Amino acid sequence: MEKNVLNYENSLSRESEKKYCIILQLILKGIPCYDLDEFKSLANAANYEILDIILQKPKKIHPKYFFGPGKLKEILNKFPLYFDRINKALLESKIEKRREEDFTILINNRLNSGQILAISEFFKTKVIDRDILILEIFEQKAKTYESKLQIKLARLDLEISKKRKELSAKLKRERQGKDFKGKGYPPLYAYKSAYKKERKNILNKLNNIIQDRAIQRKKRSKEFNIAIVGYTNAGKTTFLNTIANLSLPTENSTFTTVVPIAKKYNFKDESIIFIDTVGFVEDIPNEILNAFKSTLEEAAFSDLIIIISDISDSIEIIRKKLKTTFKILYQINANNIPIIYFFNKVDKINEYELNEKKKEIIEVLGKNSLIFFMSAMKKETLVDFINIIFLIKNKKNNIKINEQ
Ligand code: GDP
Ligand code: MG
Repeated sequence: MEKNVLNYENSLSRESEKKYCIILQLILKGIPCYDLDEFKSLANAANYEILDIILQKPKKIHPKYFFGPGKLKEILNKFPLYFDRINKALLESKIEKRREEDFTILINNRLNSGQILAISEFFKTKVIDRDILILEIFEQKAKTYESKLQIKLARLDLEISKKRKELSAKLKRERQGKDFKGKGYPPLYAYKSAYKKERKNILNKLNNIIQDRAIQRKKRSKEFNIAIVGYTNAGKTTFLNTIANLSLPTENSTFTTVVPIAKKYNFKDESIIFIDTVGFVEDIPNEILNAFKSTLEEAAFSDLIIIISDISDSIEIIRKKLKTTFKILYQINANNIPIIYFFNKVDKINEYELNEKKKEIIEVLGKNSLIFFMSAMKKETLVDFINIIFLIKNKKNNIKINEQ
């Protein structure tokens, strides 16, 4: 049977156990250079302890191994060192034997399935690229029937997209091969049609859920719905917890929320509904974004969007993350909904930094935007904010906010 790079048993199934990894990244003009800090936090979210980070800046990509084979040999020479460290740690936690799945190579690039296999065979260990790591984290958090289906769809699409080049070359060979004449479908053709069938099957199931959701949404349509969106780890769930006195899970890692959660907030005689959405991440693979589109689309059906950003990020990162957020809002047709900007975690920076960043942010977003700087953890300071939301709710059709 063909070995399938994406069909490793999800390494996150042993959630509570620590796993070990080294991170490799290839830096070359012309290929996307993903943020290393973000990747480290993705690795941590997936429960990996990082033993080493190795960057290579080659002149060109090696067609088979992606990285230069010389570099790979160099890394292989360091394996005894890594294994020593892992063995020691395992001994401390009373695990006698290191298993293959305890050590993984994480690559902060986008590779095709042939390259992943080649590297994996070279090192005789598990290799995961950025797309698969993101997928696995989503998978770990996917607890509902719907999100499990969405993951299945994403995995299927990601698999086929990583194999695209390989598949089309094979298909061409098969079509040219005289052997297949009159002997039914060539195997690859069968593979492709099995893929299509499986995909259709998942989509049908998802469609039923989407209809259910539309009914739920209709029930809520008389209410004032506010979608809380933004980059992952910005404090969306914390915000919701504080103002609504809820206790939804928050943690200092990515993707805590993969299913939108709608919660009603009562204030005096009025109510509003907050919807906590999926956290965004830099350059999320299209296959994953598409699979979760129906979930993200909740934002497109709201009356107001609150974009939460982390003010303790550097101004470059803030800009970059806002850009990603706008791009996604545009993709889900949510770009005509009024926006309030909530810059969170002001307690993490000093006054000077805050003032500098305020100036920059106002310049980026324009003077007419509604921009707040506060902490989602401090309930007292959120009272003014809530008042403004109610003001917007009550004057919904009379005032114009954030016209862009
Ligand atoms: P989400 O991914 O956007 O839902 O983010 P979470 O609400 O899970 O928060 C991510 C992390 O940031 C958690 O560790 C929170 O405790 C922390 N956090 C959230 N708001 C604040 C804040 O105002 N100040 C500080 N210092 N930390 C915050
Ligand atoms: Mg959250």
